[in-house]
Amino acid sequence: MPIAALRDACRPSSEIASNIAYHSRYSPHFSPLKFDPEQAFYAAAESVRDRLIQSWNETFLHFHKADPKQTYYLSMEYLQGRALSNAIGNLGIRDAYADALTKLGHQLEKVAEQEKDAALGNGGLGRLASCFLDSMATLNLPAWGYGLRYRYGLFKQKISKEGQEELAEDWLEKFSPWEVVRHDIVFPIRFFGHVEVSPTGSRKWVGGEVIQALAYDVPIPGYKTKNTISLRLWEAKASAEDFNLFQFNDGQYDSAAQLHSKAQQICAVLYPGDATEDGKILRLKQQFFLCSASLQDIIFRFKERRDGKGAWQWSNFPDKVAVQLNDTHPTLAIPELMRLLMDDEGLGWDEAWDITSRTIAYTNHTVLPEALEKWSQSIMAKLLPRHLEIIKEIDKRFIAMVMSGSTGMESKIATMRILDDSNPQKPVVRMANLCVVSSHKVNGVAQLHSDILKSELFADYVSIWPTKFQNKTNGITPRRWLRFCNPDLSDIISKWLKTDEWITNLDILTGLRQFADNEELHAEWASAKMASKYRLAQYVLQVTGVTIDPNSLFDIQVKRIHEYKRQLLNILGAVYRYKKLKEMSIEERKKTTPRTIMLGGKAFATYTNAKRIVKLVNDVGAAVNNDPDVNSYLKVVFVPNYNVSVAEMLIPGSELSQHISTAGMEASGTSNMKFSLNGCLIIGTLDGANVEIREEIGEENFFLFGAKADEVPRLRKEREAGLFKTDPRFEEAKLYIRSGVFGSYDYNPLLDSLEGNSGYGRGDYFLVGHDFPSYMDAQARVDEAYKDRKRWLKMSILSTAGSGKFSSDRTIAQYANEIWGIKPCPAP
Ligand SMILES: *Cc1c(COP(=O)(O)O)cnc(C)c1O
Repeated sequence: MPIAALRDACRPSSEIASNIAYHSRYSPHFSPLKFDPEQAFYAAAESVRDRLIQSWNETFLHFHKADPKQTYYLSMEYLQGRALSNAIGNLGIRDAYADALTKLGHQLEKVAEQEKDAALGNGGLGRLASCFLDSMATLNLPAWGYGLRYRYGLFKQKISKEGQEELAEDWLEKFSPWEVVRHDIVFPIRFFGHVEVSPTGSRKWVGGEVIQALAYDVPIPGYKTKNTISLRLWEAKASAEDFNLFQFNDGQYDSAAQLHSKAQQICAVLYPGDATEDGKILRLKQQFFLCSASLQDIIFRFKERRDGKGAWQWSNFPDKVAVQLNDTHPTLAIPELMRLLMDDEGLGWDEAWDITSRTIAYTNHTVLPEALEKWSQSIMAKLLPRHLEIIKEIDKRFIAMVMSGSTGMESKIATMRILDDSNPQKPVVRMANLCVVSSHKVNGVAQLHSDILKSELFADYVSIWPTKFQNKTNGITPRRWLRFCNPDLSDIISKWLKTDEWITNLDILTGLRQFADNEELHAEWASAKMASKYRLAQYVLQVTGVTIDPNSLFDIQVKRIHEYKRQLLNILGAVYRYKKLKEMSIEERKKTTPRTIMLGGKAFATYTNAKRIVKLVNDVGAAVNNDPDVNSYLKVVFVPNYNVSVAEMLIPGSELSQHISTAGMEASGTSNMKFSLNGCLIIGTLDGANVEIREEIGEENFFLFGAKADEVPRLRKEREAGLFKTDPRFEEAKLYIRSGVFGSYDYNPLLDSLEGNSGYGRGDYFLVGHDFPSYMDAQARVDEAYKDRKRWLKMSILSTAGSGKFSSDRTIAQYANEIWGIKPCPAP
């Protein structure tokens, strides 16, 4: 039947339908027998790509001709998610595509679901990079992204009896219709080798192995603008000359293609295990591969745009190029730019340093000591000998600069310098220090986090460079995270604001405040939420087999599983709630607020406690959901394989979400912004962007609990020393788990980490014990508030109304003005 429809569509009754049909026939990827949703997806995507390529080429040519200063965003991660709905949404052709697909016997939603998530990232940092690209394109900024084209993303999470299992995430299994390979954009990337010194004293890195970086471009369309920018992903390739035909014919197949297999390793996976030395070398190779390929490309383009324009100077480079480092992963861009300018272009140190430090800026994403990258100097000496020389020289000059300045710095220099030789067995390079010393701007990602950077982590540098440090509170794109993922609520908002201008000017959501008590709006708001909850309940049933009740309070915590994010606090609260429900009479139970608690997130494959947490949530769920006494009042569900598409399903259906990290540990958080924008209330600590969200939406609309960041160090000492007496409810919840109610798995090692007694575990470093009672009290306030429908709806409307600040358009406009110095460059 669909095949017949395809034949009809070839008549020009509908331009789009025939274009889709054309692609299905003339750019075939499947045998011609079927036209299922999967085939329809690829054909539709290619037809959308045709349109994009036109505006994409025109944007590129316009940037080339206008030659504005341009930003290059370097990131090891991008969490792009699906692209079809986003592209047709941004191009304003969604309805046309839905109609065309209907003509071909398909439904747009079903077709769009065929697309695999491009999950080239881990969590918030990668999703931030993707939101930023959307805003850069929408704001018509001359900017683009650079990343790596991982063959497999992080991993696909499967939940079994054992807990989390990791499977390779095969997003390129068939192919991606969005990427365009640029056969003319290829750069050589060297590893290992040695430094040669010429008679004149100039230095050159030679020898070792050379692998090619090949560019794959992904179009990033802006919303309702012609501008379409690029995400350039590098793929590693060995050339034909590296294939040893002689060895191959001699039967030595592995060694004949040795460099080919080494090239494949570089772009195989995101964050390969780094327990072994080989694993560490591979990660450093990946980082350098991204930095070197991107910088060679940037320099090539800089020269190309100067071609035929008369005399130009290298000192103008920072007037044309801004490079932003998304965390320390691309730090090697600093010594690589120095090397390219000095060794390849012949500049002197001072000029190269001036150019490098005026070009590069750095965003810090964490203050967790274990997450601050340190690279072994011996590995670097082997893999990147010239870069280690340059880093040593930067370090030497930095020390001299500090010592020649104000007095009293001697005691501080040991922690400020770039090289750390304090352990002579294992000297390291401190990447964050290298970034701070070499960048012209350093920013945190929420006000509290930026304040902590200035007062603690980077405090010593502030006295030298008082104006180097800035805040850029993160944001999210309102297109993907409200307009496209929650069309019902979007339509209501546009109707009441009498405009859809909020999609590109999110501040005007404040206009909803005047209707916060309006009963008509309440009814519409409630029905949109209920529709999303039904959709979510269907999804949960499909992926977990658990039936959940859309009339219960939907309470969601989804994010990477990490002890500092405190999923354990959530699940201990759920366990306590379960135990109390069991102890209640039927009459008492009926007075409670029924809840569905959903958790989701990936645990890093080697992070034992995080994997134990996943297992615990699943075990608690299995007991609670099958307990007929309580399962109409409480369900606990683990939603598997959390990614962008799962988030787009969960967030519209959420009513309460948990952002409950130990204060001072979550740099910003961005899912808190997504939930709040969709009218979901937050229970949370005063951490990261929660602080600013609460300010914007009003403290009466936020369920606050827990220790403040400045109290944490003192509380930690007390807790670790066993001086702090915990709440009996906390002890009761732990004991209940230890008693084996949730199965025979040994949870003692996990629970021991929560004991505030230095004899056990880690002395409750994340202060779950301290915050438990105030968390439970806040949850009791949630239950009460939910019973008052009017009050809850008002709070929900005010959450959306107060979320305008958290648009990534605002964030990117600030980066453009205050760090990059770039201006919009709309294609004509
Ligand atoms: C937004 C997002 C995150 C970040 O979540 P936080 O709660 O801010 O850590 C992680 N993963 C995905 C898939 C996201 O969409």
